[in-house]
Amino acid sequence: MFLTLVHMKYVQGEILTKDGFITGYLDFDKGRVLEGVRKGTPPEKPVAKGLILPTCINAHTHLGDSFIRFKHLELPCNVKDLVAPPAGLKHRLLKEASEQEILEGIRMSLGEMTASGTSCFCDFRESGLIGIFQLKKAMKYCDIDSVVLSRPSQMIYEKEELDKLLQNSDGIGLSSISDWEPSEIEKIAKHVRKKKKLFALHASEVVCEDIDQILDLHPNLLVHMIAATKADLDRVNDANIPIVVCPRSYMFFHLKNNLKLMKKTGVPLLLGTDNAMINTPDVIQEVQALFKTGLFALEELLTNVTYTPRKALNLDDCIQGRDLSEKFIVLERDSLKLLYVSK
Ligand SMILES: [Zn+2]
Repeated sequence: MFLTLVHMKYVQGEILTKDGFITGYLDFDKGRVLEGVRKGTPPEKPVAKGLILPTCINAHTHLGDSFIRFKHLELPCNVKDLVAPPAGLKHRLLKEASEQEILEGIRMSLGEMTASGTSCFCDFRESGLIGIFQLKKAMKYCDIDSVVLSRPSQMIYEKEELDKLLQNSDGIGLSSISDWEPSEIEKIAKHVRKKKKLFALHASEVVCEDIDQILDLHPNLLVHMIAATKADLDRVNDANIPIVVCPRSYMFFHLKNNLKLMKKTGVPLLLGTDNAMINTPDVIQEVQALFKTGLFALEELLTNVTYTPRKALNLDDCIQGRDLSEKFIVLERDSLKLLYVSK
């Protein structure tokens, strides 16, 4: 007969469920939540007390440019000069960098994410097939999940390249329609749909782009949309397409935003940290930045980094999902400082 030694541990506080916060505790062993949410007080002293939530999902990163952050350069604060392909500083530095330098940067960011309670990220990987392999190489010994969205190496559609990209990634994540020849981007979107993979797109970040052209591509996910009109947001909401916003990046670029309208339309929101050359990939810092605007309740924002992205990206959760082996985190109530990551 085998004896399984269970060394139960507890965390207590306000537990974020799909229906909001419930006061109670979780019991767990070796990182596995055993019973889900329990009411009352735990039989033993908890290892941490605070806000308890599933680990975070960072819904928008570009980890490939992490190495630039560690160069401590003074970066231009406008989107065109810094990140727009192909002439933005980011793309010039990426071209000059060695693979070793890029990999080390990505590994630093991966470490920062796991240390800050993120268990999965959705990366918009540049540099075609090579870019995917670089990311996978960097992730080799790292305990984090990923949704990798790749993109063609040139701004054109090539059937064979797209097949290879889709075989090796979860879908395609492109820069905005303004960078593309409409016929090329249409062919890409159609191909991705046919293969039943994710198709995501940056949209209306600095200028408002044509919503018909965007929606005709049937994206699964839109990033930014902060320059979109109320009518555009309503259309996106009707089509039930989640929008990823990256508040700290908008602050960096001094971009006007329509977050108030987004809140009003009720469009599903996810949070991301965007270019790792600018900000650390800690999505809780996006929650803090957005919470300070006073537009959103804390519960709502924490849901936007836990349950909403899991639904949008088809991932499970530990507290209510089928997979109870996933991790949870505990944050300090007022500062949102990370107190505990389940192991
Ligand atoms: Zn982006």
